[in-house]
Amino acid sequence: NRMETESHTESLREIIEEYWGYDEFRPLQEAAMVSVMAARDSLVVLPTGGGKSLCYQVPAMAMEGLAVVVSPLISLMKDQVDALKACGIPAAYLNSTLSWDESREVFDEMQAGTLKLLYVAPERLMNSYLLEKLVQAKVSFIAIDEAHCVSMWGHDFRPHYRELKQIREIFPNISIHGYTATATEQVREDIANQLQLIEPEILVGPFDRPNLSYSVEQINDRLQQIRAVVERHPDESGIVYCISRKEVENVSNALNEMGYRALPYHAGLPDDDRSGNQESFIQDRTDIIVATIAFGMGVDKPNVRYVIHSGLPKSIENYQQESGRAGRDGLEAECCLFYSEADLYSWERILSDQPEAVNQASMNSIRAMLGYCHAYVCRHQQLVAHFGQSLEETCGHGCDVCRGDYELVKDSLVVSQKILSSVYRQDQRFGTSYTASVLKGSRDKKVLGNQHDQLSTYGLLKKESLATIRNWINQLVAQHYLQKAGEYQLLRLTEIGWEVMKGDREPKLIQPRIESKSERASRR
Ligand code: ADP
Ligand code: ZN
Repeated sequence: NRMETESHTESLREIIEEYWGYDEFRPLQEAAMVSVMAARDSLVVLPTGGGKSLCYQVPAMAMEGLAVVVSPLISLMKDQVDALKACGIPAAYLNSTLSWDESREVFDEMQAGTLKLLYVAPERLMNSYLLEKLVQAKVSFIAIDEAHCVSMWGHDFRPHYRELKQIREIFPNISIHGYTATATEQVREDIANQLQLIEPEILVGPFDRPNLSYSVEQINDRLQQIRAVVERHPDESGIVYCISRKEVENVSNALNEMGYRALPYHAGLPDDDRSGNQESFIQDRTDIIVATIAFGMGVDKPNVRYVIHSGLPKSIENYQQESGRAGRDGLEAECCLFYSEADLYSWERILSDQPEAVNQASMNSIRAMLGYCHAYVCRHQQLVAHFGQSLEETCGHGCDVCRGDYELVKDSLVVSQKILSSVYRQDQRFGTSYTASVLKGSRDKKVLGNQHDQLSTYGLLKKESLATIRNWINQLVAQHYLQKAGEYQLLRLTEIGWEVMKGDREPKLIQPRIESKSERASRR
């Protein structure tokens, strides 16, 4: 009821002032805290940097008893707990890094009833000794951080999270609250089901990041493309994400040779080097960190001015999260994505040891990311749409599409018809690269072997580069005139594709606007 909510709000406000020194809530924080106080199950979806931790930390202080926080980020628990202790909050963690004596101490604190927040790894929570102690202690509520890890549909499934299903039975009278940055509608539903949430309050925060400027480019000269961005940001902090460790090393070395201060970060480095490099970046001793996606979880550096993706991100969720590490201070920052279609295969190789079902889901996520690149629609609109929200207007100046970096291809209809007829004449049994080769009029062995140099569509687009033709094919896929089917992603005409052939519909093909460098610079 209202009176109760108002008094909750008052005490919550006092707590964030007293312990954190903040004077107001961020969007949705208050509602999220109130549902914890009211013991109503909830699922809170806020973008990275949105302030999810406070949503459970503040109620933990406002309520009697001990709040349990499940987190997969073992390497960060110590830092999180130290930060809480520094604010005067009695917190502790239990995970595999603690010695027996250290764990013992935590259990003593629990027994004494002095602890307000306990962080545990999911595999640790299901330990029967701990469960017994928790049942004895008065648990105020259970918070599940990074809750998307429970869902196979998400981008970071962790099998141990599945065991969290049991907490509802073990603690039938205690409310459960999930927190994530990265839930689409489907993942959201799955989280609520997996955690057996009862009529949860679902709170989805504002996802748009108006201070970020997005752009997408196909890779033609990777290092030069990266360099162009870095040059726009002398002495500023930036992150360069690469798909593989090897590429991290290559790019990092190349940047150093160009005279920039860059350090690598990936799971193959010795622990000390890795954390040393991260620290150096956080403390502004190095400008650029070149990293795999292993970098960034829990890193809260406010002044990152650019994030470059040297390769296709793993999913739109990943992209939102990784690019979202730019501009956390609210000031302008840019996110540049360089990709090539072949990145799909790099990911396929990296992800090949996953279970089949997970692998399928991952490949779909990567294809959705390619779809983002190939749909020349306002990037801000595309990103929020993925999270079930909509922006009524395009961003105006905050993305390559709205800035006018592209223009309509003259004769879009005729070019599309050439592509679609070639697909049809090839009996719809070939993929994107092959089709591009035929249209280019390539002397490729396979093309000649299939006698496709005899097709009437052979060489119809010979003046264009292969990359351009492939890009146009992919645009037709993004606009659903073509579809890619099966394991080999063979091109096939859709119903509306046939309408294009008859001239009843006109696809819009886009190409980068040719302009002088100075013209381009003046628009940034
Ligand atoms: P998330 O977990 O959603 O990525 P965090 O909980 O780490 O985000 O919060 C991001 C940053 O914002 C942290 O430095 C945090 O202290 C700060 N923050 C959170 N809530 C507030 C607030 N109400 N006022 C000011 N700063 C806040
Ligand atoms: Zn836009």
